[in-house]
This record gives sequence, C-alpha cells and structure tokens, in this order.
Amino acid sequence: MATSASGAPWDADLWSSHDKMLTQPLKDCDLEVYSIIKKESHRQRTGLELIASENFASRAVLEALGSCLNNKYSEGYPGQRYYGGTEFIDELELLCQRRALQVYGLDPQCWGVNVQPYSGSPANFAVYTALVEPHGRIMGLDLPDGGHLTHGFMTDKKKVSATSIFFESMPYKVDPDTGYINYAQLEENARLFRPKLIIAGTSCYSRNLDYARLRRVADDNGAYLMADMAHISGLVAAGVVPSPFEHCHVVSTTTHKTLRGCRAGLIFYRKGVRSVDPKTGRETQYNLESLINSAVFPGLQGGPHNHAIAGVAVALKQAMTPEFRVYQQQVVANCRALARTLTGLGYKVVTGGSDNHLILVDLRSKGTDGGRAEKVLEACNIACNKNACPGDKSALRPSGLRLGTPALTSRGLLEEDFQEVARFIHRGIELTLQIQDAVGAKATLKEFTEKLAGAAEHQQAVAALRAEVESFAALFPLPGLPDF
Ligand SMILES: *Cc1c(COP(=O)(O)O)cnc(C)c1O
Repeated sequence: MATSASGAPWDADLWSSHDKMLTQPLKDCDLEVYSIIKKESHRQRTGLELIASENFASRAVLEALGSCLNNKYSEGYPGQRYYGGTEFIDELELLCQRRALQVYGLDPQCWGVNVQPYSGSPANFAVYTALVEPHGRIMGLDLPDGGHLTHGFMTDKKKVSATSIFFESMPYKVDPDTGYINYAQLEENARLFRPKLIIAGTSCYSRNLDYARLRRVADDNGAYLMADMAHISGLVAAGVVPSPFEHCHVVSTTTHKTLRGCRAGLIFYRKGVRSVDPKTGRETQYNLESLINSAVFPGLQGGPHNHAIAGVAVALKQAMTPEFRVYQQQVVANCRALARTLTGLGYKVVTGGSDNHLILVDLRSKGTDGGRAEKVLEACNIACNKNACPGDKSALRPSGLRLGTPALTSRGLLEEDFQEVARFIHRGIELTLQIQDAVGAKATLKEFTEKLAGAAEHQQAVAALRAEVESFAALFPLPGLPDF
C-alpha cells in the first residue's frame, strides 16, 4: 500500500469517495440536514408568516448566495486587498455599492456605502465604533418601546446589549397613552445627556419617524444622527415611506427584511463637503468614510461574505424595478387592511393604525397577552411574535402582538386575503381566551402551554383552525429555490 507524505497508509477508495463527497447533491450527502430543510420549507409553505422582520428571498438572490463566491477570501476593499485573485470580487463589490446608492437616489459625490457588514447588528456596532469613543454617549429608542437591542438596551439589573456595555446609552421613549415617540422628552433629555450619536430607527413602530426634528436635536447637541432603517429599507427604496437620507449623517440597514435580500447589512455615510465657512469660503470635508470603513475592516470583521454581497446586489437590482414598488405599495395597503379588519373585530391597534408594514396589537382590552396568543397562533401555523406595548407594567408579560405584512405579500396576498388572515388571528385569540378560562387567569405561561398541548378539546379546536390555515396558505406559492 502507498503511504502519504506523513507516512500514514493512503487509501485509494477513500480518496475517490472523497471526490464524491464534493459533488454529491445535499439529499444524497446529508439526509439529516436535507430533511430539516424540507421540514422548514414545508412549515413556511403551510403557515402564515406574519413576523414583521421576515420575508421570502427570491430564487435569484438564493442562487447568488449558494454560489462559489462563498469560497473567496478578500479582506480589504476593492483595489486594496490582502489576498490575490480578487479581480471579480472587486467588480462585484463595486457593483453592489453602485446599486446601493442608486436604489436610494444618492449622489456618489455626497454619499458612500460599505456593503461588507455581516448583518444589521454588526453594521450598527461598526458605526458606534467609528463615531463614538469608548463609553461615549448614545441615544436610541428603548427596546420595550419598539427600538432594537443594538440601540443600547439595558435593564435595572443588567447591561444586555454590547452597545450599553461599551458605550453609555440613554433611551428615549414613546408616550404610553398615544404610542407615538415622545419627541419633547427626547429633546429635553438630549440637552442633559449630550449624546454623541442619536439613532432614529425601530423594530416595532408603525409610524413614520420625524427625521427633520431628530436632526435639529442632533445639531443642537453636536451629535451625529444615524437612521437605522433595517425594518423599512424596502419601503424607503420604493418611496412609500419618507427617506431618512436627507436628514442623516449615517444610515444603516439590514438587507433581508422589507428589502428582501439575503441576510447582511449596509452602512451609508455622507462624504464630500460638510460645510463652507461663509467668511473665508474654506470647505470642511466629512471624515466619515475612513472612520466607518476602518471600523468594519480591520476593526471588527475579517473577510467579507462575498456570496452575501452578491445576494444583496441581486436584491438591490430587483428593488429598482416598478414591480418592487408595486410590491411595497401592496405591503402597506395590506397592513392597513389587517389593521382595519382587526379594529373592526374589536382589537386595539397601538397608535390607531400604521404608516408602514407592521402593526402592534394591544391585547390588554381583550383580557390576554402576547405570549399566550403567540403560543396558540403558532400551534395553528400562524407565526408572529409577542411584543411589549406602551405602558406595559411587566416586561415578563408583554401584552402586544407584532404583525407584519412583507412576507405574505411576497407570496401574493392582497387586502381581501389579509381580511381572511385577520379572521384567522381572531379565532386564534378567541381560542386563547377559552384556554385561559379553563386554566385560570393566574396560571403561568408554562401551565397555559401545557393545557394547550394537553387538553383534547383544545387540541381539536387548534387542529381544526390549523387545517383551515394550511389549506388557505397552500393557495399562495412560496418564492425561492425550486427544490426547497
Ligand atoms: C433587525 C434589526 C437589526 C439587526 O439585524 P440583524 O441582522 O438581526 O443583526 C438592527 N436594527 C434594527 C432596527 C432591526 O430591526
């Protein structure tokens, strides 16, 4: 028998099956992972996806994501790489950058973009790293009020987000009565706190932000204004909600929510002339470009995910089409139909409606809460998530449900379909109330869930609703790769 360089016996059979391992389809190579994907695809197909941050990426996006671009290392930026063989990667990254600016109508003289962030959270952390010194001050919307973890969340007991560990964060809040952001209080607190950065961005807020007002607060305090448009970047691209670019120094986003690409992040920054001295005519330039680029790489990340950059580039091309604009208009129309129908069924929608792709339903007046409703709806193949409502007393028992329309609109649902979806949700919540009655109002969520799974009459009711939901969902095709 031959031996390898290390002296170990060399097995020709293993060597030839090693070759097979690299060319076999997933189904033949790894049945376990293959069947998990199959199960998940079935779950997506037979369920109603109302999680506001989710969407179904197109086939073309997923093809780019599954390509050989996965294999290539390219630390650095186009034209300045730490690896060879990056000719086509440079071409790809520059294309992605051009499209990102084009989608938002940005002049390349005044705006640049970094397309390397792995996702939304790393993108945000890169902005803070670039613009705020360690323990410098940041203000963002509080998590229970609809902000994102990365905007600096902490509790009485714990600094939860790294943003609150490495920087000092002070939240701003919504008005518990109206559900709208309390800008007056934000202004007052910013005066005292003197933040270096104010974040205008939300994960659960159904209204447009007042970017102009936030910019005034930033200017009054010598702060940067960053929009984190993760949830709404597709709506902004289609022009169906106000664009943050006019008023912000920096804009970050994810690419997989309303923008409907693969999972990644983008950071847009102003560049060129910042101001001109009226007396001397001397220009001051923005210095954001080098700060942000060096925070992403080499500051926080290694090699860019080139397959993801390709997926983002494809999504951006799609986002520039008239079809995409119609899609986003439909997302908003569907959301309003959902809000209207639920209001008609006696539900309280926070702020009374929506300007965008999501609503927050306050279940307190119905006598239940988000956690219980979420469990029952999940058992009926309706996916959404519990969320705190303005004025909630306990973070442990959030009383709201966050419902979003981007994913199901990608499957082709229209307003009347969303009226049907609202009725399914209503039946799920009626069921929640029945189970709650049976188990007692004081029961824990665990006891409630046990009752839901254990009692035959509830199981029957759930199965009946689930069967209806499944046959309704089956009417709408699932975007993506044909095999899954
Ligand atoms: C989703 C979201 C993020 C984070 O995105 P990930 O890709 O999950 O890291 C950041 N900011 C806001 C406002 C978001 O909604």
